[in-house]
Amino acid sequence: MYSDIFNMIRKHNEMMRNSIPLIASENLTSELVRKCYLADFGHRYAEGKVGERYYAGCKFIDEVEALAIDLTKKLFDAEHVNLQPISGVVANLAAFYALTNPGDIVFSISVPCGGHISHDKISAAGLRGLRVVYYPFDVETMNLDLKATEKLAKDVKPKLFILGSSLMLFRQPVKEITEIAEKIDAKVMFDASHVLGLIAGKVFPNPLKEGADVLTASTHKTFFGPQRALIMSKESLAKKIDRAVFPGVISNHHLHSLAGYAIAVMEMIEFGEEYARQVVRNAKTLAGALYDRGYKVLGEKFGFTETHQIAIDVRAFGGGDPVSRKLEAVGIVLNKNLLPWDPVENTANPSGIRIGVQEVTRLGMKEEEMIAIAEFIDLALKEKKSVEELRKAISEFRKDFQTVKFTFEECDAYSAL
Ligand SMILES: *Cc1c(COP(=O)(O)O)cnc(C)c1O
Repeated sequence: MYSDIFNMIRKHNEMMRNSIPLIASENLTSELVRKCYLADFGHRYAEGKVGERYYAGCKFIDEVEALAIDLTKKLFDAEHVNLQPISGVVANLAAFYALTNPGDIVFSISVPCGGHISHDKISAAGLRGLRVVYYPFDVETMNLDLKATEKLAKDVKPKLFILGSSLMLFRQPVKEITEIAEKIDAKVMFDASHVLGLIAGKVFPNPLKEGADVLTASTHKTFFGPQRALIMSKESLAKKIDRAVFPGVISNHHLHSLAGYAIAVMEMIEFGEEYARQVVRNAKTLAGALYDRGYKVLGEKFGFTETHQIAIDVRAFGGGDPVSRKLEAVGIVLNKNLLPWDPVENTANPSGIRIGVQEVTRLGMKEEEMIAIAEFIDLALKEKKSVEELRKAISEFRKDFQTVKFTFEECDAYSAL
């Protein structure tokens, strides 16, 4: 029955309403953004560029896409913007198509060190036939080992340096990598999927301003958009990027969510700075509160984090798998995560968990709530209270945080069906 589907959606909403959402790659969209999902735009095709479509009927879709491009250029001070990739992996595939040839060597951050699978052989980089060499990585700083990278780059001569990660606690040395790349005529691409909203909010450096040739990103992690992606680049690469996107990896590009994205950019312009500052304050507060309760929070010598993320080594509690299950049972939703010393096959039970505070920040939580969350995590993992008691306490805690903030009209986070 069709109503079964709506019941499942309602149950999901109810579950989320009573949970603490800490998945670092997720966020909520505002009702203004969601309204666009229902628009007729979602039934239409708009292949090609603004003003050069292959099908008729695109007059107003063109207006929306042109405005969205213009706003994005202004927000990021970008020379060229392509908004058509429908996901981060697709954006990366297009960027590889534009910037490399099969057989080329690229430098990637390995998955255990925080890199995304699409930078690796098993995903987009492999599909393009690229040979992947991993950056030397320093576990203490949770960052690239720049000296060793420079040396390796001289020997191996990669065509492309891929920066940006899925587990990214700290800024990466974009300017320094750009200098190394220039000497060997290589390009630099920064995958800002996780930190796009922090760049927009000016708490994280803009890689384009630091010399990166290309920036790819999904638009729904720290950014306020629906699930899609973008590519920004220097003007000199505009043609190559656009051709790689269409007809390379995209035909139509989901125009209802494009309209939602345009609204999300407006929200970012208006509220992004205040939001991003609170995100980083919240992440630091939660990291500190967990550290104070005896948890092995990574990056302790460097203030734990400069982003929305926190990484914790939970081997003392049996590893990331039992820990994430135990937390899910009480209503704390996060993911198990590989840490740099884990073998890449160890995805079933890696050493760590990853926490992101962007979504709870969008729900209006501040430092005080971060300390409460640290306490809930501690109570659950040390089994100081029963699962039932904790579930109740967490539902109660969530009562005051049910609306989406940092938007023009505050709205219910789980719109009713
Ligand atoms: C999430 C992520 C992606 C993939 O984005 P999707 O929209 O899920 O395809 C790509 N790169 C990085 C660094 C990511 O964290």
